[in-house]
Amino acid sequence: MSIFCKFISAIAIVGWSYGALAADYVEGEVIVKFKNSQNGSAAFASKATGSNLNLKRSWGKLNLHQFSVSGKAGAKSSVQQMLKSLQADPNVEFAEPNYILKKQSTGIEGGALSRNDVQSVRAQSQPQISGKVSAMSTESYYQSDAPIQVEDAWGILASNSYVPVVAVIDTGLDYNHDVFVDSGAVWTNPNEIPNNGIDDDNNGYIDDVHGWNFVANTNDPMDDEDHGTHVSGIILGMTQDIFASTISPAKIRIMPLKFLDSTGSGATSDGIEAIYYAINNGASVINASWGGGGFSQALQDAILEAYNNKMTFAAAAGNASTNNDSSPTYPANYSLSNIISIAATKDNDQMASFSNYGKQTVHVASPGVSILSTLPNNSYAYASGTSMATPMVAGIIALMEKQAGQPINGYQAAQIILGQNDSNVGNISGKVITDARVNAYKAVNYVKTSGVDEYQPASGVTASRSLASAAGGSAGGCGLVGKYFMDNNNSDGGSGNYFGRILLFLIILSPFVLAMALKHQRKEEEDRRIHQRYSITSEVRISVGDKELVGSVSSISLGGVKINTEALLEQGGIVEMNIMSPDGKEKVQVLGKVVWSQERKSYGVQFCDMAETQSSSITGWTKKLVKSS
Ligand code: CA
Repeated sequence: MSIFCKFISAIAIVGWSYGALAADYVEGEVIVKFKNSQNGSAAFASKATGSNLNLKRSWGKLNLHQFSVSGKAGAKSSVQQMLKSLQADPNVEFAEPNYILKKQSTGIEGGALSRNDVQSVRAQSQPQISGKVSAMSTESYYQSDAPIQVEDAWGILASNSYVPVVAVIDTGLDYNHDVFVDSGAVWTNPNEIPNNGIDDDNNGYIDDVHGWNFVANTNDPMDDEDHGTHVSGIILGMTQDIFASTISPAKIRIMPLKFLDSTGSGATSDGIEAIYYAINNGASVINASWGGGGFSQALQDAILEAYNNKMTFAAAAGNASTNNDSSPTYPANYSLSNIISIAATKDNDQMASFSNYGKQTVHVASPGVSILSTLPNNSYAYASGTSMATPMVAGIIALMEKQAGQPINGYQAAQIILGQNDSNVGNISGKVITDARVNAYKAVNYVKTSGVDEYQPASGVTASRSLASAAGGSAGGCGLVGKYFMDNNNSDGGSGNYFGRILLFLIILSPFVLAMALKHQRKEEEDRRIHQRYSITSEVRISVGDKELVGSVSSISLGGVKINTEALLEQGGIVEMNIMSPDGKEKVQVLGKVVWSQERKSYGVQFCDMAETQSSSITGWTKKLVKSS
C-alpha cells in the first residue's frame, strides 16, 4: 500500500502546477490531508510543531486538518508559501486554501411581506410560490397547470410513516417562523436531551437538538441573514402548501446547518464539517445553494462520503451568467454522480439572465426567478437565484423519498431527476445536459410506478469528468485514486465495476501503475486468504479524532477485525483501536482503516502497519479461539 500510494502521490505532485490563487480564501488558513499512515501524520506533526502552523481543527478519522498560518501581515503570501512547501512534503496527501463559499441568491426583491399580505394576494389571484405581488399574471408553481406540477405530485403521493430529512447547509433557519413551528418541519435530534450540557448521542456536538451553527460553533442555527430561511421555505413548499391559512403537519424535516455567516459567506472547512454532520445524523438530501472558491479536494471528498452514504447533493450552478463547462463552479461542478447541478429559469421556461449554464456540466433547470418563500421574523419575500432553483429540486427529491417510503440513494435520485422532466421547453435546449426543466409529478410518478432501484455504483466519481479533471492535473492525487483502489479492493461487487475502474486507471495513469495496482490487488487477496479468522468476544475502544467510542469485536485475524458499534464510522476513515484480549488481561493498540460497513452497525477494519509485538499478542489470543469462515 505505502509504495503504491507514494508512487501515485509522486505523480500528483509532479502534475500539480503551482499558480496564483484566483479564488477568495480565508486568510491565514490551509486545509491539509496527511497520508493514511501513522508515520505520515506523526512525522508531519513533529515538523509542524515549532513552524508557523497552528492546528485549528482535525477530522481525525480522515487525516484532514485545518491549520492557521501565523506569519507577517499580508497573510495571503504566507498561505501561498505554506501551500508550496506543504505540497512538497512527502507526508502530505494534499494541501489547499480554505476557500470562501457564497450564497447564490441575487437578493430579496421588494420588501418583506406579512402573512396577511400573502393571504390577500392569494385570495385575489392565487400567485403562490412564484410571481410578484404586483404582477398578478405571473404563473404559480403550485397550480395544477403550473409547469413543474407540484400539486399534481401531491395528488398521487403515498401515505406512509417515512419522514425524509433534508439538510439545509446555509445561513441557518428562523425556526420560530410560524410556517416551521406550525408544520413541525424543523428536524429534532431524537437522541439529544436539550440544554443538559451533555453530548447525549455522542456525535461530537453538545445539545445539538435542531442542527448546528458551524460559524459560531454553537447549537443555535438561527438565521442571521435571510437566505437559509428562504431556501428552507422553498424545500418545505415543494412538499406542502406553505401559504395555506392553516399549515398542515410537515411530511419532511429540515435540518438547519449554519455555515454561511450574516453576510452570506462561509469557509469551506465549516461547509465540510456541516456535510459530515448531515451524513452522520440521518439526512438523505443536502441542499447547497452556494458556491465559489476553487477546486477543493477536501470538499469533493466530503460529498463523495455523502455519496457513499447514499445521499443526494443538490447544488446551485451559480449566478454569473457564465458557462460552467469552461469556467467551473464548485461544488456544482465536482464529478460525482450524487451531485445535481441546477440552473435557474424564469416564466415560460426561459433561462434566467443571471443563471450559469453548461451543456456538459449543468444537469437540469428549475424555476429560480421571483420565488416567494419564508423570511425570518414571520415574514415572506420574493428572491431570485440558482439558490432558489436548487431547493425546488431538493424538495422534489424529498417528495420522491416520501413516495418511496425510504431514502433513495444519490445515484438513483439524480437519475430520476435527470430522466423524469420536461425537455426542450422554452429556450433551455443546449444550455443544460438534459435540455430540461424539472417536473415534480413525473419524478414522483416514476417512483410510484417503477419503485426504487437500490443500485448504486461503488464509485461515485463520474468517469467523463474525472478524466477531464485528471488531465488538468488538479483532481488526481492519492485521495481520489486511492479511493478507487480501496473501493475496488473492498467491493464484493461484480467484475463489471472492477474492469470499469481498471479502464479508468488505464486512461488516467500509465500501464506501469496499472501493473502495480494489479499486483497490489493480488497481494491483498493473498493476504486475505492467508489470515485465518477467529470468532472472538471482546471489547474495543475506538478513537476517532478526540472522541472515544466503545464497541465489541466479533471476529479477528492478523489482517483486521469485525467490530460492532452504534457509532457511525466513515468508510475509508482511519481509526485507532484499543482491543482487549478475550480474557480482558491484555490490550493491543493498533491503527486500522474502515473498509466496509453494514447498516452502520458492523464494520470491517483492516489493520495498518501492525508491529511485531501486536501481531504476536493477537496470535497468542487466537490459540484459544474458534476458527470462523
Ligand atoms: Ca450530540
